[in-house]
Amino acid sequence: MKSNTVDILASYIDSLHSIIYINHFDFKVIDEAIEKVGQGVKCVEYNNAFGLIDFKTKSPLQECDLEQFLKLVFDDGFEQETFIILKDVHNELNNPIIISLIKRIAEDNIYNENYHATVFIISEIIVIPKELENYITVFDIPLPVSSEIIEIINEFIEDLEITVEQDVINDIALSFKGLNEFQIKQILNLAYQDGGYIDKEDKLLILKEKEQLVKKSSMLEIVNFKESIDDIGGLENLKEWLERKAKIFANMDKAIKFGVDIPKGIMIIGMPGCGKSLTAKATASLFEIPLVRLDVGRLLGKYVGESEENMRKALKLSEAISPCVLWIDEIEKAFAGIGSDDGSGVTIRLFGQFLTWLQEKENTVFIVATANDISKMPPEFLRKGRFDELFFVDLPNGEERKKIFDIHLKKRKKWNKFIDSIALIKETEGFNGADIEAVVKDTIELAFIEEREIISTEDLIKSVKDTKSISDTLKDKIKNIKEIIEHIDIKCASKAEKDNIS
Ligand code: ADP
Repeated sequence: MKSNTVDILASYIDSLHSIIYINHFDFKVIDEAIEKVGQGVKCVEYNNAFGLIDFKTKSPLQECDLEQFLKLVFDDGFEQETFIILKDVHNELNNPIIISLIKRIAEDNIYNENYHATVFIISEIIVIPKELENYITVFDIPLPVSSEIIEIINEFIEDLEITVEQDVINDIALSFKGLNEFQIKQILNLAYQDGGYIDKEDKLLILKEKEQLVKKSSMLEIVNFKESIDDIGGLENLKEWLERKAKIFANMDKAIKFGVDIPKGIMIIGMPGCGKSLTAKATASLFEIPLVRLDVGRLLGKYVGESEENMRKALKLSEAISPCVLWIDEIEKAFAGIGSDDGSGVTIRLFGQFLTWLQEKENTVFIVATANDISKMPPEFLRKGRFDELFFVDLPNGEERKKIFDIHLKKRKKWNKFIDSIALIKETEGFNGADIEAVVKDTIELAFIEEREIISTEDLIKSVKDTKSISDTLKDKIKNIKEIIEHIDIKCASKAEKDNIS
């Protein structure tokens, strides 16, 4: 446990924070911190299985339930300063008697000069009863900063009596950023067991471990994909912009030293099936970093404060595995209901929490938020400064439709230079990328069935005629999106069409 954690904890106790909720899984680490802070203090501990136990030796002293325990130790605070340590009791925090007993301790701690007791609740799950809200301070163990990470590595190396070069230490310390002390030690152990030494190759192990973290959490999802920037037809302005940012990402250290701001992310708004999700994938491929999807719906919980807690954890986790692209698909759905009364205001709070994080963030999590229908989108989101840039993806123009045809024909090895692009472009006014892909797929399927090797312009046009494009099926929606776009300050993802297309 690093000293700044102990200092912060001590300052909480000094300033009469009566209930300190420590959100952590590793009791040993917490015990060490409490022991350091609580020198000369009486520590009484409650354990779900054994009741009252000895804080130092962990041996059972008296079997009792939480209510009996709290009644038993209540008076200790009159005799001497006491820490009342409750572990994994989150399930009991909806019991009115327990709530009253804890509240009584908290009140006495504040108002009664002769009473000194601090309650520590330690659990990985946060449950905050309304009645205790004003007394509880949630204490998040801060993640180790660079110098502390180096200290942890050095301690590990000393213990094992191995030598590791300083620049290797600095390099892997950078990769460890975002992980807690326990996780860092675990990975160091694994790396050492793997080869009997620590070297730069172990960065891969760190990345793998970070991926494991994401998988275990079930709040974020690592997206596997094959697409690259070359799979996007058109959207040249957007692609150029991303290529510029990729240069910064590839040389982050140098860029920061030079005074360049760390890219925050983009919002891509526009027509469905026009390459927004494709762009999220291509961004991760271009930046050469993992793509992680955040599904806000998954964060919603049933207890008070649970959703906010999940959001906090998800954002923290994204920082832990950064650099990464954090993709929020259909962000308008994620924060749907803002402005309307959803009863508890949870979405409003989640939204505020996300905006603050976005505003203040100085990490290497690059956000790609995509949205179709922005009519219900709060204007705060669209304001400059939240994202680096807002891009509008329109239905592809003629030149872009030609490129999209080429990409999908080439992908299926059926590209034919004799295909008449001009005729195809004329016939596909109002088609989106997904429509064009469907046309190519259908044409190739039919050619296979009819045992034809070559695909002709006529074959493609026949499929085009059989396809109902997005402009037919979603006419009103498209009109609506266009109207809204006119009123916001947004960049066009596509370049203006050239006069001659061939
Ligand atoms: P959305 O904009 O709704 O996120 P997607 O990016 O998921 O749309 O597009 C759906 C599919 O349509 C893609 O997987 C891709 O095959 C095709 N597509 C859409 N736009 C383009 C484009 N600009 N270039 C190439 N293919 C595209």
